[in-house]
Amino acid sequence: MKIIVCVKQVPDTNEVRINQETGTLIREGVPSIINPDDKNALEAALVLKDETGAKVSVVSMGPPQATDALKEAIAMGADHAYLVSDRAFGGSDTWATATILAAAIEKIGDYDLILCGRQAIDGDTAQVGPEIAEFLGIPQITYAKHIECDGESLNVTRFTETGDYKIRTKLPVLLTAIKELNEPRFPTVQGIFRAYDGDVEINMLGLSDLNVDQTQIGLKGSPTNVYRSFVPVKSKQSEIIEGNTDSEKAETLIEKLLQANLI
Ligand SMILES: Cc1cc2nc3c(=O)[nH]c(=O)nc-3n(C[C@H](O)[C@H](O)[C@H](O)COP(=O)(O)OP(=O)(O)OC[C@H]3O[C@@H](n4cnc5c(N)ncnc54)[C@H](O)[C@@H]3O)c2cc1C
Repeated sequence: MKIIVCVKQVPDTNEVRINQETGTLIREGVPSIINPDDKNALEAALVLKDETGAKVSVVSMGPPQATDALKEAIAMGADHAYLVSDRAFGGSDTWATATILAAAIEKIGDYDLILCGRQAIDGDTAQVGPEIAEFLGIPQITYAKHIECDGESLNVTRFTETGDYKIRTKLPVLLTAIKELNEPRFPTVQGIFRAYDGDVEINMLGLSDLNVDQTQIGLKGSPTNVYRSFVPVKSKQSEIIEGNTDSEKAETLIEKLLQANLI
């Protein structure tokens, strides 16, 4: 089985600050991590590798420093790594990002299973995985919380707020992982040597390597546009409800809540 895991490098959210003047993320000096759901996706791939001898490739679109995320993935046990990076990709929204990642996956080729995280903690849209599946024309199962390989098909438990679905699917398929899926492993010492001693090459993919329509990528090819980002100002307003008895106070409270359309 050949598995491709999409791994995004994200800022450690506890550290994220926004430049109040420009409304952009302050990335300088902010530590970066592998997006948490993507670690669950990678762990699922590595479990399938342990069980079936699958080959695991990781792919990340981002600036050169996203190499760090790929090296960590190699240290955890991934076999191959691809960094998709080009100035032409800058400013891509989810549509453009998925277009590029789908083209990169087609370039890598020969896949049975694609694993993504459910959601990136910075962009937070949960759109990229399903969009990649659409662009590749393969089925998708989102919110995977349990995966079992049964020869040529997978049994997947899909979480929803109203109950779990048990779905059997043929390959190829794209799954998005949630944190309930597993507990990601730590890199091994051997893995760290493989990753950082250069035993595993990071393969670079740029615009000229991919079969993409240039009108569909980058800032210009992105159908959506973030025109402002800001941290909402937290404000507190309190009012003491007056009344002679508790039931009088309760009636006044109910009236106020009704007036505010809150009940
Ligand atoms: C107009 C516009 C301009 C933007 N410009 C920039 C910019 O200059 N720089 C910037 O960093 N962001 C930029 N963004 C944000 C960027 O579009 C999103 O971060 C990106 O499209 C992914 O969306 P998401 O983070 O919501 O991922 P989600 O859809 O929440 O991610 C789901 C899963 O998809 C996979 N995935 C998502 N992104 C990647 C990736 N890059 N590589 C590998 N796997 C991935 C992961 O498995 C992830 O768990 C811009 C957005 C817009 C709308």
